[in-house]
Amino acid sequence: SNKKSVAKSKTEDGYVHVRGAREHNLKNVDLDIPRGQLVVFTGVSGSGKSSLAFGTLYAEAQRRYLESVSPYARRLFHQMPVPEVDEIEGLPPAVALQQQRGTPTARSSVGSVSTLSNSLRMLYSRAGDYPTGQELLYAESFSPNTPQGACPRCSGLGRIYDVTEHSMVPDDSLTIRERAIAAWPPAWHGQNLRDILVTLGYDVDTPWRELPKKDRDWILYTDESPTVPVYAGFTPKETKAALKRKETPSYQGTFTGVRRYVMQTFANTESASMKKRVARYMVSSACPECEGKRLRRESLSVTFAGHDIAEISRLPLARLAELLQPYAAGKDKDEDKRHLHNEQLIVRRRIAADLAARLEVLLALGLGYLALERSTPTLSPGELQRLRLATQVRSSLFGVVYVLDEPSSGLHPADTEALLDALAQLKAAGNSLFVVEHALDVIRQADWLVDVGPLAGERGGQVLYSGVPEGLRKIEQSQTRRYLFGEAPSPQRTPREPGGWLKLAGVHRNNLKDLEVAFPLGVLTSVTGVSGSGKSSLVSQVLVELVSQALGQGGAAQEEQPDEPDLERDEQLPLAGHIVSGMEGVRRLVRVDQKPIGRTPRSNLATYTGLFDQVRKLFAATKDAKKRRYDAGRFSFNVAKGRCEHCAGEGFVMVELLFLPSVYAPCPTCEGARYNAETLEVTYRGKNIAEVLGMTVGEAIEFFKDEGAVERSLEVLNEVGLDYLRLGQPATELSGGEAQRIKLASELQRATRGDALYVLDEPTTGLHPVDADRLMVQLNRLVDAGNTVIVVEHTMRVVAGSDWVIDVGPGAGDQGGSVVASGPPQDVARNKKSRTARYLAAQMN
Ligand code: ADP
Ligand code: ADP
Ligand code: ZN
Ligand code: ZN
Repeated sequence: SNKKSVAKSKTEDGYVHVRGAREHNLKNVDLDIPRGQLVVFTGVSGSGKSSLAFGTLYAEAQRRYLESVSPYARRLFHQMPVPEVDEIEGLPPAVALQQQRGTPTARSSVGSVSTLSNSLRMLYSRAGDYPTGQELLYAESFSPNTPQGACPRCSGLGRIYDVTEHSMVPDDSLTIRERAIAAWPPAWHGQNLRDILVTLGYDVDTPWRELPKKDRDWILYTDESPTVPVYAGFTPKETKAALKRKETPSYQGTFTGVRRYVMQTFANTESASMKKRVARYMVSSACPECEGKRLRRESLSVTFAGHDIAEISRLPLARLAELLQPYAAGKDKDEDKRHLHNEQLIVRRRIAADLAARLEVLLALGLGYLALERSTPTLSPGELQRLRLATQVRSSLFGVVYVLDEPSSGLHPADTEALLDALAQLKAAGNSLFVVEHALDVIRQADWLVDVGPLAGERGGQVLYSGVPEGLRKIEQSQTRRYLFGEAPSPQRTPREPGGWLKLAGVHRNNLKDLEVAFPLGVLTSVTGVSGSGKSSLVSQVLVELVSQALGQGGAAQEEQPDEPDLERDEQLPLAGHIVSGMEGVRRLVRVDQKPIGRTPRSNLATYTGLFDQVRKLFAATKDAKKRRYDAGRFSFNVAKGRCEHCAGEGFVMVELLFLPSVYAPCPTCEGARYNAETLEVTYRGKNIAEVLGMTVGEAIEFFKDEGAVERSLEVLNEVGLDYLRLGQPATELSGGEAQRIKLASELQRATRGDALYVLDEPTTGLHPVDADRLMVQLNRLVDAGNTVIVVEHTMRVVAGSDWVIDVGPGAGDQGGSVVASGPPQDVARNKKSRTARYLAAQMN
């Protein structure tokens, strides 16, 4: 074997030594990187940065840690992935601050993730202002997630869910026969309920709004469930006659009131789609008992600085910090102290000081516009990562390595400076930082660079350079070098002229207040601004909602519906604004976001893009398949005929472990191939269907040469820089950036008729500058074909290459929400009020 050993004397030299790393695409990599420094891993997407930083270094640190904690449990941990590496020496324990791909639970919030809410509850419990005569409450009483704290009416949700006549009967000009009662079950069950009403003598042929209120109320709200004879297919008149004659009915039917049907189905059904269906007919409103504050009355009666704990949790963190300041400094006013014991005063000052210090870090990281109550699923991955980073900065660990994944994502260059300060603090406290990053302003601050490449997948996986940044200048093969040392000038173009304007007015959402804004049509626009200024609220929310509404595309354009019923959507988001003009230039809305292309391993790149349908047809057209009468369906792993039955076409099976979360293991029957043996006997150009799914896009391009439709789909995937992905790579293994580019590719392969509006939120996240440049080529191609592209962006290289810039701000939260500047890049770069101008100008000369 070629195993190389690290001399013992080297282990204490202040470096981490890696020998023979082969995780994923890594090519038996040897590497020495310093501890106690800011080490940045660079390279094109798919080159192997994460495989090195997370898959090897972090995974090994984690594995060692778990083994050391509990040698006894080692046997159980044999399922922990062991990275493919010969040897690592000098590796400190590691903490990963990775961007979350899954969705954290809805009940976690800024306050819980940062643990600030715990301290705040302690503050209220021990040193709050209680109404006279009320006993002190325990800290748990200030949490809506405990029985002691939760409002009994809404169980701590703050909202109650119910139906209204309008939600159940959206169009009251219809008759019951015309399905006025939209909330009723579809198909047979709905007809059955209607026939029962006929037997009961209700009028099902008069428009709903003309029925007597008494009848409408009974049908909607009754809790009675009479069982009556049903004469299927009879008219009301015939039914009446049949009842009179006591004719034998078709069957006996039982009635359920509409409200009861909706509420019971929602509470009891096991079917996600049923639940989602009925949820559409429910509306939520603030709980009248707690006014949406989620807590019991007595908990809300305790105040601090005049606010109950729910109110204080809704303040922006910057405001909360101001409010705590006098208490932390012991400068609180005398009347504030009057009814507290000395001991309470001491506690109050201690907790306030601790909170203030921790808030300071969050403010420094540019998160002062968030509130404690903000739920984490509404945060961007970058915001969440910075939140967790801030929490670490205050926990006084040292001698640890922090492994971070693109911490600058979602950050305006102005915010990135604050991020670098926080990283410097962690380093100063004696920690090491291993950071995977694409932003040049972060890469420039590195003490040490590890450049991986030269290309992606099989053609990457080597360390091209490891050393101080300046040394990279000499590395010919490095793509990063060209961008870092200014050898790849920004694409300078003469901005295109707008072909029209999409004007919005009266825009209200989050921090946008009665905003007026005009988006140019037929060009590429970048929307910029510091994080929290309102870019996403404007573009990804309001613009998308208004345009899809105008087009009748119904809210979630081009998006798969989430599996969970989305109760929050009702009522809570009021009128967002209106479109003044310009819709004649928009015939279609396409939102290309970073949400997963599927939530199960059953979807993958090939199924999502439609490529797999073509491939299956090719297999079905082979001589062998025809002889066996295998159709295209036979080659699907989602259909019983051809797939491996042991794993139902998943390729792996779940192994239950006592005391530990279950793990997945390759299916013992098909060994991960997903198909049964007979299906695999059929080959096309010498490969079976499983082998084709195992190919990368790059390999498949060679393999499918001259196969028109397949080749074209593959070419577009290649053009957006995804040549390294395997065709069968499950949706669940793809990063947000990869998912976004797959969506873009499937859009690009459709014939573009023009007049489409493409909306992208931070499309360059996860992209090396060289990949970002390629993406720009694709976006420009869309514009050249007569479409409009609007991106939310922080990368000045992209902004400088756009036709138009809309800068939102000037600051975050309450200090933002306005359009600061709007114009071609060179104009915005000169705008004195814009915080983006300075960075844009630097890019443009
Ligand atoms: P980078 O971080 O530079 O974008 P990665 O380390 O994520 O690159 O990926 C390097 C290569 O390893 C790519 O070809 C990628 O498709 C592959 N890869 C990544 N994750 C996995 C995985 N879980 N299983 C198999 N291959 C993977
Ligand atoms: P940007 O996209 O520029 O980073 P956002 O549009 O996400 O800014 O946020 C603008 C403001 O609206 C911020 O103060 C943010 O905290 C607030 N905000 C955004 N989304 C929500 C939400 N779901 N609930 C409450 N406030 C929100
Ligand atoms: Zn309540
Ligand atoms: Zn199997």
